[in-house]
Amino acid sequence: DTIKELFEIIPGDGEQLLERDASQCRRCAVVGNSGNLRQSQYGQDIDAHDFVLRMNRAPTAGFESDVGSKTTHHLVYPESFRDLAENVSMIVIPFKTLDLRWIVSALTTGTINFTYVPVPRKIKVKRDKILVYHPVFIKYVYDHWLQNHGRYPSTGILSVIFALHLCDEVDVYGFGADSNGNWHHYWENNASGGAFRKTMVHDGDFESNITLTLASIDKIRFFKGR
Ligand code: C5P
Repeated sequence: DTIKELFEIIPGDGEQLLERDASQCRRCAVVGNSGNLRQSQYGQDIDAHDFVLRMNRAPTAGFESDVGSKTTHHLVYPESFRDLAENVSMIVIPFKTLDLRWIVSALTTGTINFTYVPVPRKIKVKRDKILVYHPVFIKYVYDHWLQNHGRYPSTGILSVIFALHLCDEVDVYGFGADSNGNWHHYWENNASGGAFRKTMVHDGDFESNITLTLASIDKIRFFKGR
């Protein structure tokens, strides 16, 4: 019922992602939120990609020289939503059914303002700019790639595997924990960077091994920052 209601509100047409010009190579940058982007000077390289995928709270304003300014796709869940520029496709990752109901609510009545934390009642995103990450694809990443490590995959690894399926070249930036194993951010000193380890919600080490292995066999390029 939720899905039916959702696709009465948004077209959710992902065809654009599958339409391909066979004569051209689709180059994608997946930009994680790691503090290793600070002073990396990757901005121009990142912006030179056809697709630039960013995620969660990631800002670009004020960080352009390190992270670039272009975004084509931004992956979020309700609790990590941020305002997006008009031309950006928002890809919602539904970790739970309530996340799908939130999309409907945020575009219509605005009744949902709390999940396990406060979430925006209303969002200003054009309906045809909203895509939904298929729950079966989340499960595929969790079963096949993570081999069920952690409770569920992080936004970052979901983005990398997503890009691997849609792009000819995948360049990965902004992945890598700090020296304490915490997921620090390039724009803030986030106190919650270690939360995923305490709750064991994500297996950061296992996820990191996947990206490093993919890089070692030239399936992706990994830019480790500073
Ligand atoms: O912290 P947040 O979840 O918003 O970061 C997005 C993704 O970037 C994470 O899911 C993780 O995969 C990756 N990340 C990382 N190293 C960091 C911070 C984030 O690999 N220091």
